[in-house]
Parts: sequence; C-alpha cells; structure tokens
Amino acid sequence: MTVVRAGARATRRGAAENFTGEVFQDEVLVGQAPSRMRATVVSFTPGARTGWHSHPVGQTLYCLSGVGRICIGKGSRPQAIYPGDTVIIPPDTMHWHGAAPDRLFSHLAMSENGEQGQGTTWAEHVSDSDYRMEPAPA
Ligand code: MN
Repeated sequence: MTVVRAGARATRRGAAENFTGEVFQDEVLVGQAPSRMRATVVSFTPGARTGWHSHPVGQTLYCLSGVGRICIGKGSRPQAIYPGDTVIIPPDTMHWHGAAPDRLFSHLAMSENGEQGQGTTWAEHVSDSDYRMEPAPA
C-alpha cells in the first residue's frame, strides 16, 4: 500500500497551448503498469476551458464543484454540468470541457492511456463564439 500525502505534490498550471484561461491540475494517480489509469482533479477559473481534444480510451469526468460546460463534437452546443454529474466521453471523440463563463468549476478527470501508451490528442483552442453558445437544456 502507498499513501501519497497531500503535501507531496504541488498544484500545476494547465499548459497555455492546451487550455484557455487559468486552469490548475492536482494529480491523483498515474497508474503503474499493468494499470494505465490516470486521474487528476482539474480546477477551472470562470471562462477557462480545455482546447479541443480526444482520449484514446475515452474519459470519465466526475463533477465536484461549481458550474461547468461539456461539449462533444464540433458544431454542437455545450451542456451545463453540475456537482455529482458523471460525464462519460467515448474513445477518439473530439470534445472540450471547462467552467461556465461566470463560475468556478472543478472535476475529477479519469482516463487510461492506449495500449501503446498513447495519451491525449490535442487540437485547436475553443473559440469564444463556440464557448459562449447558449448551453443545451439538460
Ligand atoms: Mn477530455
């Protein structure tokens, strides 16, 4: 058994090439083989979001606090997401997630690397007009 103490890992900032706005990442787990699991708590300031991206084995988001947005597929309207919601994103599917324009948001992000170790595929930033589209009703 291992207990990784809270003080042993510093919060990191989301890289500007992959995120818009201020994003903070707290690593929970990077699994050791044969595990390919990765888990991170991601905290988004109002207006902050990921760029468009996909995950080789999909991704699960468990919403922890605030009000967020999820958008699957280019041209789609985002949806509002709330604490307690679980979002299941299929493999190799372009999407973005982040905070509402006027609210903080955090989620636990869980994914697995691909069988060959592939991680996230990143594409362009989400434009302000795509981000600010009125969210679809839940
Ligand atoms: Mn994702």
